[in-house]
Amino acid sequence: MKILVINAGSSSLKYQLIDMDGEQVLAKGLCERIGIEGSNLQHTNVGRDEKTKIEKPMKDHGDAIQMVIDALADEKIGVIKSMDEIGAVGHRVVHGAEEFADSCMITDAVMKALEKCTPLAPLHNPPNIIGIKACQKIMPNVPMVGVFDTAFHQTMPPKAFMYALPYECYEKDGIRKYGFHGTSHKYVAQKAAEFLGKPASELKIVTCHLGNGSSITAVNGGKCVDTSMGFTPLDGVPMGTRTGAMDPAVVTYLINQKGMSAADVDAMMNKESGVSGISGVSSDFRDLSAAAKDGNERAQLALDMFSYQVRKDIGAYAAAMGGIDAVVFTAGVGENDAAMRAAIAGGLEFMGVKIDSGKNSERGTVDISADGAAVKTLVIPTNEELMIAIDTKRLVEGK
Ligand code: ADP
Repeated sequence: MKILVINAGSSSLKYQLIDMDGEQVLAKGLCERIGIEGSNLQHTNVGRDEKTKIEKPMKDHGDAIQMVIDALADEKIGVIKSMDEIGAVGHRVVHGAEEFADSCMITDAVMKALEKCTPLAPLHNPPNIIGIKACQKIMPNVPMVGVFDTAFHQTMPPKAFMYALPYECYEKDGIRKYGFHGTSHKYVAQKAAEFLGKPASELKIVTCHLGNGSSITAVNGGKCVDTSMGFTPLDGVPMGTRTGAMDPAVVTYLINQKGMSAADVDAMMNKESGVSGISGVSSDFRDLSAAAKDGNERAQLALDMFSYQVRKDIGAYAAAMGGIDAVVFTAGVGENDAAMRAAIAGGLEFMGVKIDSGKNSERGTVDISADGAAVKTLVIPTNEELMIAIDTKRLVEGK
């Protein structure tokens, strides 16, 4: 079965066509500037390693999807003969709230439930919904599946997901921890169990998705029991440009004492903070490492704050699970930044986490633990598109 994976943003749309026999990516690409002047499609025929850029006006997501289908079925740059070869479409949806604890087949009722989740992700869910509707219009007979960033975290117990606000805030307004990056955490936790040759049900794993946005998750017996992101993806460890957790009274202080508007505080916490705000250098960890090597103290401070908070979360989640069998690093920083992995693991030897510096410089899926370490430390490249395709296939096959 060939599955089209769609990740629709407000003015962009990413896609991959994956052949599930052998889990091969046949083609992938990106539509940019949808509804804006200069819209274009960048398409890669993976088998031929051939990239094509098509500049053509796309007034909406419907136009974008049609261009994607045309490119996929194109005689020259395509990988299929016609749209009929697409067996199903898997859609990434950011927020499923408490409505969705697993991926699901998209029906009218599901679309209604999705609209209900929109206030919780006002920037992300609307384009996801528009992407689904555009696909339904062009491919009315193809089954569609929604895969939610929040779903994997729905197994958290109330003691982990509740905030100590008046209970009505949860009951009436759904204010609670939801967690994000769930598709990635689920994928690497499953891969870790496969790699270690043990059933997921027997493992306590802390998965560290460290990228532009970062989150840490405690996975006990294959199920999420806690995660560092919260009501929104602003919570947890410091990120590229996001604060991560801090005293919430800072927000009211900035508004009441410093005269900032709520919108300005929101923009500052999301776009001007994190390792970028601390260093004044960049949100990119490569730039930070280079600056720190050149003696930039604030760049070093940003890196130290990041590794410190990630290390604390790993320790906290080991405590939450009453033990730990493996730590998994994934995403841009987790997969590529050996120095950051060493800095994080450096303070965890007391609980059996010990990295081998030689193995830590290897790439791909690799066990970087030192010989005899009680806890396995693994690097596992994440693959959210493949996880979406795997879930889509599972649901379409009725499992
Ligand atoms: P996103 O959260 O946007 O999906 P990614 O998981 O792709 O992000 O991670 C992007 C981040 O990964 C970049 O900001 C960069 O700091 C970091 N990164 C990528 N390659 C390296 C590397 N070789 N060394 C250090 N950091 C890296």
